[in-house]
Amino acid sequence: MQNQRTTTEWRELDAAHHLHPFTDTNSLNEQGARVITKADGIYLYDSEGNKILDGMAGLWCVNIGYGRKDLPEVAKRQMEQLAYYNTFFKTTHPAVVELSHLLAEVAPQGFKHVFYTNSGSESVDTMIRMVRRYWDVKGKKDKKTLIGRWNGYHGSTIGGASLGGMTYMHEQGDLPIPGIVHVEQPWWYKHGKDMTPEEFGLAAAKWVEDKILEVGADKVAAFVGEPIQGAGGVIVPPSTYWPEIQRICQKYDILLVADEVICGFGRTGEWFGQQVFGFTPDIFTTAKGLSSGYQPIGAVFLNDKVATTLAEGGDFNHGFTYSGHPVAAAVAHANVKALRDEGIVDRVKNDTGPYMQKRWREVFGQFEHVDDVRGVGLIQAFTLVKNKATRELFPNFGEIGTLCRDIFFKNNLIMRACGDHIVSAPPLVISKEEIDQMLETAAKCMVEFEKQLKERGLV
Ligand code: PLP
Repeated sequence: MQNQRTTTEWRELDAAHHLHPFTDTNSLNEQGARVITKADGIYLYDSEGNKILDGMAGLWCVNIGYGRKDLPEVAKRQMEQLAYYNTFFKTTHPAVVELSHLLAEVAPQGFKHVFYTNSGSESVDTMIRMVRRYWDVKGKKDKKTLIGRWNGYHGSTIGGASLGGMTYMHEQGDLPIPGIVHVEQPWWYKHGKDMTPEEFGLAAAKWVEDKILEVGADKVAAFVGEPIQGAGGVIVPPSTYWPEIQRICQKYDILLVADEVICGFGRTGEWFGQQVFGFTPDIFTTAKGLSSGYQPIGAVFLNDKVATTLAEGGDFNHGFTYSGHPVAAAVAHANVKALRDEGIVDRVKNDTGPYMQKRWREVFGQFEHVDDVRGVGLIQAFTLVKNKATRELFPNFGEIGTLCRDIFFKNNLIMRACGDHIVSAPPLVISKEEIDQMLETAAKCMVEFEKQLKERGLV
């Protein structure tokens, strides 16, 4: 059926009927969407026959790579056996039981309970409701405020977009909702110029303490952050940051929440980002890599303290028709099992991750307008800068990033611009040869980019 139409026809129908997320509709329709028709491994193919290296694993989610034959089989079998039933009102089903059991095995110690959602945004909204419910049950009804971070991304629902610190999202729809405040992101390169990274990590954690004191510890319910800020530009915090945040949260009796929607399920080489930075949250949210995008599903993990308290409170009046959907659960189970049993996560930790990080720094470190080349496992970034010596960024943060990103696109390599941070998170099955190939193309694109910067008088 897919091949019955031409690219032009698909574009016209798309423009006529489909509103795209995070897209300027008029400019998209002028140019026409790129039509992706199939995918395999780390490659996408478009309707014009181009083979595109997906350096972003879709939206940081196709951890296991495209084109697996076993996952559709699992989905088919589950649909035939039990296509749907819910997990409300004292029912369950084998697919969701098996997934929960497996997740308790791969999760860091102490996380034995999960609550299912359909997406990262729903995981975050669920977490917000859980955090507030937790303090209600504890009899501390004033503890309602959540602290997020500027440029954090926690999804597009009203709760998620409020907790996230994207001001361009807040501007649309009167966000944030009451009871959500933000602190600055731990971006050493910009905010810690006169400090070592370790000193800066402590200083950035102090911003959280200052905010707690400003709001009043008796009113603060939780601090929430991505272990590595993803859409905010792959901001890798200094090693001192998260342990200090944990100490502060404990001191003021505040729940600590990690949003692991990007970092979870092997992206960093550890199963979860918290394990890279040596901290233990009370709750963490997941989605994306849980099913590697083969089905929409998310999960919120709770430690015993939170799970027990919520249970003491009786009914938790929250849930989705598709919480623990049997097909999504079965596919997620097969995906997580494969990530573990095929050694995919281990390979990121011991082999392809370190290789990517070494090559990434070698390749991009040599460019005149690239600095702060960074990353962990298979999540990496660099920042486009006007002057390396003074750490001067370009004016109109984001303009130059788009220029650079478009050059990658034209060369059939997908990397993303988050402002002037160029970021990448390929499928975890990428091989060393494919990493070389990706970086060779990227280096050629960067030569072209720096040439264009000069030609356009931007430097
Ligand atoms: N949290 C983080 C850290 C994310 O990166 C994202 C999406 O990119 C979300 C939440 C929202 O997930 P979803 O788009 O599945 O709703």
